Amino acid sequence: MKNYSIAIDGPVGAGKSTIARECAKRLGFIYVDTGALYRALGVYFAKEPDGAVEPCLSSAAVNLKFIDGVQRVFVNDVDYTDKIRTPQASMLASDISAKPAVREYLLELQRGFAQTQSVVMDGRDIGTVVLPNADVKIFLTADPRERARRRYDELVAKGTLNGTDAEFEDVLDDLIKRDHNDSTRAHAPLKPADDSITVNTTGNTFEQSVEVMLKTIREHL
Ligand code: C5P
Repeated sequence: MKNYSIAIDGPVGAGKSTIARECAKRLGFIYVDTGALYRALGVYFAKEPDGAVEPCLSSAAVNLKFIDGVQRVFVNDVDYTDKIRTPQASMLASDISAKPAVREYLLELQRGFAQTQSVVMDGRDIGTVVLPNADVKIFLTADPRERARRRYDELVAKGTLNGTDAEFEDVLDDLIKRDHNDSTRAHAPLKPADDSITVNTTGNTFEQSVEVMLKTIREHL
């Protein structure tokens, strides 16, 4: 049976991970969140000086495991899953992901997931670099303030933030900065693949976004 691959790229907070996870579940595919790899490496190397990352990369064996259908990320067999969803980890991931050696290091690992199973894979360069032959490529986006609002609500719900207006402005600033970092880096910048379909989720409920995505995917499979 053919393995299908669906590539989903887009800026911070467009709902990639929640929407992609739900689509994967409904399609019976594995969901691969590649951001977790960059986040885990960013946290792992957080205390190292900038120049120390490249020479030490091969000593950081990063991997994803799917436990009861839930993705967990490991570095040297230590589970980093619960340490990677903070605003600090987001910026560490964005910074480390600009290093070509880091992107190269993670490339084969990401491609390997799509070789043996049908996947919905999300990130920034999945349609352009990681899976250039993906069966369907979607560029998922939404208005920046709405993306910031979703990210902020998540962080408040988790208790990471208290819920003040100043914190919202910080989340919006971080989001704009991270999108800028990700889309202006020299190596594998965030951009829609030439053959991608753009889906804009501004104003949609979660269920509406999932429906649009599934419809788009099914039409192109
Ligand atoms: O998707 P997520 O917000 O978890 O990604 C964290 C960071 O990892 C992004 O801001 C981006 O810098 C980097 N990343 C990337 N390429 C990917 C996935 C994530 O550069 N395929």
